[in-house]
Amino acid sequence: MAVAVRSAPALLDKLERLGQAARYDLSCACGPTAGRSRGADDRWIYPAVLPSGERIPLLKVLQEGRCDRGCRYCAQGHGGVADATSFTPEELTRVFFDLRQAGRVDGLFLSSAIRGGAVGSMDRMLATAELVRRSGFRGYLHLKLIPGSGADQIDRAMQLATRVSVNLEAPTAFHLQRVAPSKHLERHLLAAMRQVAAAEAAGRFARAGQTTQFVVGAADETDRDLARASDWLYRRLRLRRVYYSAFQPVPGTALAHRPATPPLREHRLYQMDFLLRKYGFALGEIPFDEGGALARDRDPKTAWAEQHPERFPVEVNTAPVAELLRVPGIGPRTAARLLELRGAEKLRGRSALRAAGVAVRLAAPYLLLDGRRAVPRQLGLF
Ligand code: SF4
Repeated sequence: MAVAVRSAPALLDKLERLGQAARYDLSCACGPTAGRSRGADDRWIYPAVLPSGERIPLLKVLQEGRCDRGCRYCAQGHGGVADATSFTPEELTRVFFDLRQAGRVDGLFLSSAIRGGAVGSMDRMLATAELVRRSGFRGYLHLKLIPGSGADQIDRAMQLATRVSVNLEAPTAFHLQRVAPSKHLERHLLAAMRQVAAAEAAGRFARAGQTTQFVVGAADETDRDLARASDWLYRRLRLRRVYYSAFQPVPGTALAHRPATPPLREHRLYQMDFLLRKYGFALGEIPFDEGGALARDRDPKTAWAEQHPERFPVEVNTAPVAELLRVPGIGPRTAARLLELRGAEKLRGRSALRAAGVAVRLAAPYLLLDGRRAVPRQLGLF
């Protein structure tokens, strides 16, 4: 049974509003899969997976609710529907520690709308982070860097936080202008990300690196536009993760009339992202159609495999890891397990594939097991 939180009702009311307002941001440890699953009672608490793999309940909340800027998709934006609720640093620290004491949260994701300028808003977030750290919290703290923050503020955020992030929201300056006309891609967003990357490379920021988020489908960007941007961010700025958040129209905003982006598009982008980050695919190998879209009816690795019959079948018992990773239905953990199992004895049956965690239905047409096809030839693809 949940332990009662001691904070005053007025603070809990703010928590309800500013926690709800933070729900669109997935660029924290609670990103893609856990990001939208919340407890029924604690709607501002998210199950999060930390960079270490540890799972914790994370308080995700805004410092301030209504924004001076006019990002066209954003509920917090000028002219939007958000109320002007805000936490002082002391209030937010108090709520966080009360929740911790009640055993409800074990980490904090702090973001904010912009009131009275980026520097002032970032200062208030930093004051909260300072208080939280000075009060003895050493755990996971994720700070959003507000576009337009000063270089010294970004440095301080890196000292205080476990992880920082800047939300790019759109993959190019052109697309950004369509959805967030007050933001300048280079000056407000990439400059901060470059500063974090440089500090990290210099060993001054050795914790959990930086992440970002794209709003998918708000600016008529293609999947290829997003893939290009993500690939650049991983290679050049060493981002730990890029998150993709399917656009959802918010009543009262400038883009309220736009249709919501289907969750399947977001899902395919995450699959593409895994190919870039974990499977050794180059950007040029990702299969897009002529309009720059990923296939919706199959995952991108299967689409690639179907276009490259010359690469298959691969022999489970001898193929190097890089080749196993090209097989649909085999991920990095499964490939490692296959290597372990085949080191002990030759793998011959489909039960051995299952034991390694292979998605047999997907993978079998692409595999040889001890020289024999893992599926009868008439059922195979080639
Ligand atoms: S700056 Fe952030 S909070 Fe403000 S309108 Fe834009 S996306 Fe929303």
